[in-house]
Amino acid sequence: MASLVKSLRPLARSIPARPVSRTPLPSRVYQHARPFSSTSIRRDAMDLSAVPPTPITHLSETEAMMADSVSRFAQEAVLPRVREMDEAEAMDPKIVEQLFEQGLMGVEIPEEYGGAGMNFTACIVGIEELAKVDPSVSVLVDVHNTLVNTAVIKYGNAEVKKKWLPRLATDSVGSFCLSEPVSGSDAFALSARAVRTDSGFKINGSKMWITNAVESSFFIVFANLDPSKGYKGITAFIVEKGTPGFSIAKKESKLGIKASSTCVLNFDDVEIPKENLLGEEGNGYKIAIGLLNEGRIGIAAQMTGLSVGAWENAARYVWNDRKQFGQLVGEFQGMQHQMAQCYTEIAAARALVYNAARKKEVGEDFVCDAAMAKLFASQVAGRVSGLAIEWMGGMGFVREGLAEKYWRDSKIGAIYEGTSNIQLQTIAKLLQKEYTR
Ligand SMILES: Cc1cc2nc3c(=O)[nH]c(=O)nc-3n(C[C@H](O)[C@H](O)[C@H](O)COP(=O)(O)OP(=O)(O)OC[C@H]3O[C@@H](n4cnc5c(N)ncnc54)[C@H](O)[C@@H]3O)c2cc1C
Repeated sequence: MASLVKSLRPLARSIPARPVSRTPLPSRVYQHARPFSSTSIRRDAMDLSAVPPTPITHLSETEAMMADSVSRFAQEAVLPRVREMDEAEAMDPKIVEQLFEQGLMGVEIPEEYGGAGMNFTACIVGIEELAKVDPSVSVLVDVHNTLVNTAVIKYGNAEVKKKWLPRLATDSVGSFCLSEPVSGSDAFALSARAVRTDSGFKINGSKMWITNAVESSFFIVFANLDPSKGYKGITAFIVEKGTPGFSIAKKESKLGIKASSTCVLNFDDVEIPKENLLGEEGNGYKIAIGLLNEGRIGIAAQMTGLSVGAWENAARYVWNDRKQFGQLVGEFQGMQHQMAQCYTEIAAARALVYNAARKKEVGEDFVCDAAMAKLFASQVAGRVSGLAIEWMGGMGFVREGLAEKYWRDSKIGAIYEGTSNIQLQTIAKLLQKEYTR
């Protein structure tokens, strides 16, 4: 088993991502191979022409350290509480405290603001490692880092960064509030409204499905400041917990990731100061799209980690514990072929995740890669966690172990941060653009 895990997480190496092949091809062939071989690299971002190709899953020393320390933390601190938190449908506040102590809530926040100052892939590695043990804890870290922290780092002005980044790195959980009762996949049909006041803005409306809402004290809220401009009126605001008129209306009871809070939020004449504008007025839709493109790599990492967790959990059982017909059930060829197939699919999902993350880091266009990674990793998570239950027979079906939980948790991968149909639409739209003469 240990060697299989190692093969998913090769040894640390400080080698940058694989460069894009520049071998000239006849124009027709080149054009048709393009989406898979050379999506518009930004040469100004990083010159990789002299770097030898390396496996996409190679980790830098820092990333490998992240993987090891998060893996240890997940086993020692999270695993003993997973079942209890799932049954209670609540995140243990101690876990949240420990996530801050471990530096996992400020992975990319620069050190000058009290964060770990690491890269995006290090964050992806952490999300994956947590999901192997508990996808609920993983998504708390994922949303906080890839959506909330990134929003402040990329779009916050100097005052916003100075005020909020140290808190987001050390003690304040964040939420990303885009979806509403009336707007899900059609996110920019949102109906929350903002108006200018003498001292800032006033927000009215409702948000739905907001992850981390119970734990959060910092909310990025999208509302339309000028509906006459349609989606170009959408603007991002910061709302602090405790602001008069802002309340949690309902906490959802869910099929999976039960320990992760998901809430309906109400905004009744919520007044915020002008400093709580995030980015520019009317730029909210661009901010949301940009963040969700990156965030999807995080969800893909969560689903990949979940798949590994489900596969390993079952592999340990069928190759060590359960015998039928005088032999371990994992020795039957019918079982082994399914397990090998699943392991191969996990490795493929993982390659997509790391490719998307590396492309983002070197400044390449990664939108299609992120959508493919999320689409495929969530499909693999559903297949692997479902089969893993069957490999364990009745023991996979009962709530004593974690097999059934992985499967329940896998369903959300095809829904949040854009459903699978929306990922397919994104992929198809970009491909059509590439292939249209
Ligand atoms: C547990 C959980 C946590 C979440 N966390 C957050 C969060 O923190 N912040 C936030 O803002 N949102 C969050 N969401 C919302 C999530 O992003 C939406 O649920 C998701 O975008 C889908 O929207 P919807 O549920 O309204 O489904 P709908 O948009 O109503 O979709 C229903 C079905 O129609 C399909 N469909 C819709 N449009 C098309 C189309 N054009 N072509 C083909 N098929 C289509 C969809 O694929 C889906 O199968 C969360 C949701 C859940 C369940």
